Amino acid sequence: MPERYQPAASRDMAIFNAAGAGAVVPGSALMLAFAGSQVLVDLAGPPRFPSFYEIAAWVPADAELHHLGHWEGQALFAVALDKQSGLDESLDWMDLRRLLGVLDESLFYVAGRATQILDWARNHRFCGRCGAPTARHEGGERALVCTRCGFGAYPRINPCVIAIVTRGDEILLARAHRFANGMFSALAGFMEVGETAEQTLIREVREEVGVEIGDIRYFASQSWPFPSNLMLAYLAEYAGGEIRLQEEEIAEAGFFHYTDLPLLPPAGSIARAMIDHFVAERTAHHA
Ligand SMILES: [Zn+2]
Repeated sequence: MPERYQPAASRDMAIFNAAGAGAVVPGSALMLAFAGSQVLVDLAGPPRFPSFYEIAAWVPADAELHHLGHWEGQALFAVALDKQSGLDESLDWMDLRRLLGVLDESLFYVAGRATQILDWARNHRFCGRCGAPTARHEGGERALVCTRCGFGAYPRINPCVIAIVTRGDEILLARAHRFANGMFSALAGFMEVGETAEQTLIREVREEVGVEIGDIRYFASQSWPFPSNLMLAYLAEYAGGEIRLQEEEIAEAGFFHYTDLPLLPPAGSIARAMIDHFVAERTAHHA
């Protein structure tokens, strides 16, 4: 089966003005329309994004349409809209986070790409080096280029390392102060420049809970568009130390038996995938 999402080729990432877009953007094109972190979606049936035809009347003439490629053969664009515009009531604004586990996984990924590209475009109207206005890349690359000094700004991702630390049948989980609902999750942290992923992991676990780890094994990666992270996920073994919390960040942490786990992150997150993987492995081990 062919992939449902065909990303735009690296020279085909053009940005179009909404005015005159009719010549290049088909009415049937799928639109990932965002207002901040909220995306326009039709939830009447299986969640679906609107076509250009459905929202064209509310897209301002100076809006920029970012070409993302194709979804099931249909051209795909991202656009930033004003939430106040009078949209059709069959469409809803929905926080992208709430569509995790609701949208088809590959469609969620495409929407995550759209919001990151819109953020990048909003944050790079002016050159970070000399302050002059930027313009779209003439060769169709996904870049905003300074009109004075030529400096090019490409979308950036921020690598983040996440790990579950296990000790026999137990798993180390922590509740950060920012988790309002009492959820426990894997430990995670941003990579510092110059670090390897393994070095970040050892440092973060040591800083956040005071524990040493070993036997670090790569698990998987996930694009996480809140706001622009690449999650690199690892499994690690407890290697020593007593739990000592970094109290500014961590409210509570502990080792939990795989049959008696607290409230966990939602399905669709890589943290949950790792925890489920550990539970399945322990269950099989004891079967
Ligand atoms: Zn410049």
